[in-house]
Amino acid sequence: MRDFSALIKNWYLQNRRNLPWRATNDPYKIWLSEIILQQTRVEQGMSYYLKFIEHYPTVKDLAEATEDEVLKDWQGLGYYSRARNLHAAAKYIHNELEGKFPTTYKEILQLKGVGEYTASAISSIVFGLPKAVVDGNVYRVLSRLLNEDTPIDTTQGKKLFVEAAQELLDENDPSTHNQAVMELGALVCTPKNPDCDNCPVWEKCLSYEKGTQLTLPVKSKKTKVTRRFLHYFLLLCDEHLLIRKRGTNDIWRGLYDFPVMELPADREPTKSELKQFNITSVTEDGQFKHVLSHQHIFAQFWMAEVHSLPEIENSIRVHINDLDSYPMPRLLIRYLESSQQFAGD
Ligand code: SF4
Repeated sequence: MRDFSALIKNWYLQNRRNLPWRATNDPYKIWLSEIILQQTRVEQGMSYYLKFIEHYPTVKDLAEATEDEVLKDWQGLGYYSRARNLHAAAKYIHNELEGKFPTTYKEILQLKGVGEYTASAISSIVFGLPKAVVDGNVYRVLSRLLNEDTPIDTTQGKKLFVEAAQELLDENDPSTHNQAVMELGALVCTPKNPDCDNCPVWEKCLSYEKGTQLTLPVKSKKTKVTRRFLHYFLLLCDEHLLIRKRGTNDIWRGLYDFPVMELPADREPTKSELKQFNITSVTEDGQFKHVLSHQHIFAQFWMAEVHSLPEIENSIRVHINDLDSYPMPRLLIRYLESSQQFAGD
């Protein structure tokens, strides 16, 4: 496919968005932006990027932060393993590599939370290495450009698209090429409404010619979604309540939430179940649905005044005005912002 790279680079240089991580060649900042932008839109990720750069201007600052501080700054962005891995990798760079960011694709790939896509992005953008990136945008652009319906979530599909991306790459300028193809996917070759009339490669695009744009890319599996019914208990005692740090074997690891009970669908806690929290009655204080990639959470919040707080594993007693200091899942923030008891605190 001759000229593909020249066409998209030319388009990119005239149409790219002005984004802060495009004004730097600091590997730490590019790495940070790439981790934030995994599974996150630019509009949502921007304020988090700016906050992290302000709070942790160097990899040393990030390495020396506590996990609670990092998770608190990540709060609301979701996929919290990204924050934990980012923090672990910063410590590794600071402690094991004398603070020097690795410079080869292989070494970058060793960093926790960095997969092939992110390693290719960093090594091409920062170090000019000839590694083609393949992310969701690139799968979409290439599957349409080549009118290729091999499912992208199969071994065969991945191999095919990685090879195609590498073949199309301009090895003399992999940085601009990679950013151009991703920007084309983000701005023009979008999932539901590709703007083919304003696409720089429409004359070369086989799916445009055949009218198959909206059928591509193909995925073989549907994501299995689990429905969970969580009941949270706000046990209030003298303006204090209990929060607990979540364990390692479930979503939101390392974040804080309230004592919780998971029950079957459409069933409320019984009197005997309430006994574990030393309470006999509760008042409902809100219901929320929260959508994660593999789970739909139906949460119900219950409030009870107690004379003394019960002993619950991993829980701590916190004043209601200090809740804000602890990293919490977005679901709980939504509840706290809406509850008459807590809103405005
Ligand atoms: S012509 Fe349309 S489908 Fe083809 S790459 Fe451009 S925007 Fe995507």
